[in-house]
Amino acid sequence: MKKLALHWKIIIGMVLGVVYGLIANKLGWVDFTNAWIKPWGVIFVNLLKLIAVPLVFASLIKGVASLSDIAKLSRIGGKTIALYLTSTVIAVTIGLLLVNTVKPGEAFDMKSIQVSENTQTGADKKIEDAKEVKQEGPLQFVVDIVPTNIFSAASNNRNMLQVIFFAIFFGIAMIILPSEKTMHVKGFFDGINDIILQIVDLIMLAAPYGVFALLAGLVVDFGASSSLFIALGKYSATVIVGLLLMILVVYPIILKLFTKIKYVDFFKGISPAQMLAFSTSSSAATLPVTMERCEDHLGVSKEVSSFVLPLGATINMDGTSLYQAVGAVFIAQAYGIPLDLPAQLTIVLTATLASIGAAAVPGAGMVMLVIVLGAIGVPVEGLALIFGVDRILDMMRTVVNVTGDATVATVVASTEGQLSLVSDTELMS
Ligand code: ASP
Repeated sequence: MKKLALHWKIIIGMVLGVVYGLIANKLGWVDFTNAWIKPWGVIFVNLLKLIAVPLVFASLIKGVASLSDIAKLSRIGGKTIALYLTSTVIAVTIGLLLVNTVKPGEAFDMKSIQVSENTQTGADKKIEDAKEVKQEGPLQFVVDIVPTNIFSAASNNRNMLQVIFFAIFFGIAMIILPSEKTMHVKGFFDGINDIILQIVDLIMLAAPYGVFALLAGLVVDFGASSSLFIALGKYSATVIVGLLLMILVVYPIILKLFTKIKYVDFFKGISPAQMLAFSTSSSAATLPVTMERCEDHLGVSKEVSSFVLPLGATINMDGTSLYQAVGAVFIAQAYGIPLDLPAQLTIVLTATLASIGAAAVPGAGMVMLVIVLGAIGVPVEGLALIFGVDRILDMMRTVVNVTGDATVATVVASTEGQLSLVSDTELMS
């Protein structure tokens, strides 16, 4: 019998997870599921996170150091940042156009919404986190990029940008030095890189079971807030339509303009990473798989992928920025606060910055939404309104975040002459 491709196995795992979760809710197996099934999902995500820092470190040093000269580094770096910014601004604009047309918040009667206790506590916690973000100065996110101690930076997945900073710095020093001096270090990092990619392959064998456990656990958790779910349907639909436009219209156009790759092939190649993004809600946890898929299944050179993707996982979040634009306007509409053109432009700027600053972990986009709300004078407490549906939207926006990174990596590789065509079997496996 032909071996089932990985993405099919993952889809089956996801569907079974949702079905199981629904049944578990009906039959009252919630405690059992939380005690015996959910932990396997947590272990799976932990495994992915476990290798994220070493992977970013080794692959970036290898990537930067192999860019033979500084001119090449600045050219690829420049292209990457320009593409990341452009796609983010497009995403925010789409979000704004949609939310201003649909006006989901106007259907809202603030007093009629009964926020469940669970939701309220969760939302309060987010609002607290959000207030902490707000108290920092405007340049704080730049200050935060430069670590004072690389080991403490590497000990926390939230400081990925600091690890990236150090790795790029390290790589630049390697380029400047004569190659006889750096030969052994280079060989060392090449070896580490190969070993880590092998670990990713091993972890992926468990992916179908991991996503089953993740989704079963999530569906069981969601049970309580289903009434809020319905009330927020219009808002969610607006975000989802925007995200679909990114995946089905914007990225295909970008790929068509700059590469020869067919979108169907791109989709086939990247789909396991998209499914993981959906199940884990974390671009950082998905990164190892995004890299592996881009290199082995889309034909992006290691030189490009190891530079563009780790950076993208941290700073390029098209889905998040689109969601922040919709979320901010939705909350403003619910409060009856009108937003004029300057306020809308402020959203473009702040949502772009907030998505760059958001950590690639679940729920980060919602915490950073406070920057956008603060800039347009909308009460941060409004976050409680959208908290109930945040997880499912987080799962979807993370898919877009990861797809955006892969699109830019493919475009940069293509314009650098570093995109090799891969066979159908490699695409499917
Ligand atoms: N979960 C998203 C990611 O990791 C960030 C967010 O929007 O919360 O890409």
